[in-house]
Amino acid sequence: MNYSDNYYVRTKAYELDSNRLNESLQCDVCIIGAGLSGIATAYYLNKTNPNLKIVILEKNKIGWGASGRNGGQLLHGFSSEDYSSQKHSEDEIKTLWNFTVDAVREVKKNIKDLNIDCDLIEGYLLTSVTKSHDEELKKFIDQLHNQFDYESAQYLSKNQMQDYFDSPYYQSAMYDSECGQIHPLNYCLGLAKELLKNKNCKVYEESEVLSYKHEGKIKIQLTNKLEVIADKMVLCCNAYLDNLNKDLRRKIMPVKTYVSAYTEIPNQVLSNYFKRKITVGDMLFVLNYFRLDGNNNLIFGGGVSYSNIDPINLENSLKKSIRKILPGIEKYNAWCTWSGHVAITANRFPHIGAINKDIYFAQGYSGHGLALTTMVGKMLAQTVISSNSNFPLFEKLQHRNFPGFGVIDTPLLVLAMSYFKLKDFLGLK
Ligand SMILES: Cc1cc2nc3c(=O)[nH]c(=O)nc-3n(C[C@H](O)[C@H](O)[C@H](O)COP(=O)(O)OP(=O)(O)OC[C@H]3O[C@@H](n4cnc5c(N)ncnc54)[C@H](O)[C@@H]3O)c2cc1C
Repeated sequence: MNYSDNYYVRTKAYELDSNRLNESLQCDVCIIGAGLSGIATAYYLNKTNPNLKIVILEKNKIGWGASGRNGGQLLHGFSSEDYSSQKHSEDEIKTLWNFTVDAVREVKKNIKDLNIDCDLIEGYLLTSVTKSHDEELKKFIDQLHNQFDYESAQYLSKNQMQDYFDSPYYQSAMYDSECGQIHPLNYCLGLAKELLKNKNCKVYEESEVLSYKHEGKIKIQLTNKLEVIADKMVLCCNAYLDNLNKDLRRKIMPVKTYVSAYTEIPNQVLSNYFKRKITVGDMLFVLNYFRLDGNNNLIFGGGVSYSNIDPINLENSLKKSIRKILPGIEKYNAWCTWSGHVAITANRFPHIGAINKDIYFAQGYSGHGLALTTMVGKMLAQTVISSNSNFPLFEKLQHRNFPGFGVIDTPLLVLAMSYFKLKDFLGLK
């Protein structure tokens, strides 16, 4: 499939040669999925050992999935910060946190080193809606400073917040000077462009993997009886995995979320809210995430469909939140509105590991993977090269199967999530 229409596809900075697999071949490492997880894994594999023959097989286009249609928010942390049900020591929790901070720094380093044209802007506000959010926020900042020795975040009262961003909807905020925003598709394509400079690395688009067998080597089957034979394989299909591996699929639930891009709001109107170009996310369970980008365009994401049924009018459904957060802006028309699938895990931590010493996987970033995918790719590459199959900290994360896989998982999830939405609505969180 070609790219589905969205702001990033319309403003793409890179055109890479497209290649479809038309002959069977052999390689050292085969990666399935050319989103940021797959591209980053290949990038670091190649950086460590340029002699490796690396093949990426992509069902659609590079960055076609979540990586090329997300909110562009470059954030540290995981989708959940609740480590209480996990089995980590205090030191291990700090190491996990540092991994996410390194992820943001590594993306910025790649952008700088490779001169990737992807509109990086630093500065992020995590905003509170209710009094209890405000208390939670203060505790979180305290934890960052005292437990994690992370000093780039500071608390802002409503008055202080107004120097960055003004909205009647938010009570207070955490300002983080390291997090920020990028054009995600351009980052993904920029990294892929660098990778493809080495003739040992190939990305085949429109090349769907149907199944694989592990018989000494890994035999990967595609349509037209084509086969790729690899020593190692990395599964990076995330929310689009389908039935390629049922055990992995049971650990994630694909849910839809939505984004609109506004390109025609006068700067004078935007400046009522945005005092600078900044990225904002709020603390609601079904969060609103938005930013003013380098071209003064508003990219506004939010909403979620656990049943995977879209609202009748996507643009209008997001405007319900816009009206509360940026009153007056709802009268403008979006340039485009799109949806994408996020793979959530039951505990909201990413699911990363090895099936055996030859097959690895990364999935389930739970809507928080733009920065993490780069660092996870770096970790996967190191592990694949060392033929090690251990991910000590990530293996300790307790990943449960979603109940009723394939039969009643969606209705159960819709029920559970309706409860959290109701809590948001009643301001109970
Ligand atoms: C609307 C939206 C907004 C988001 N906003 C943010 C945000 O602001 N900040 C943030 O941190 N995260 C955000 N995320 C999450 C983030 O985009 C993802 O965590 C991240 O992009 C995951 O990258 P990935 O490479 O693992 O998966 P993907 O980018 O989804 O890539 C998976 C790829 O695998 C391919 N594939 C699947 N099956 C096969 C097969 N059988 N054969 C070959 N190829 C296959 C797919 O075509 C796809 O290209 C958002 C996600 C969405 C959908």
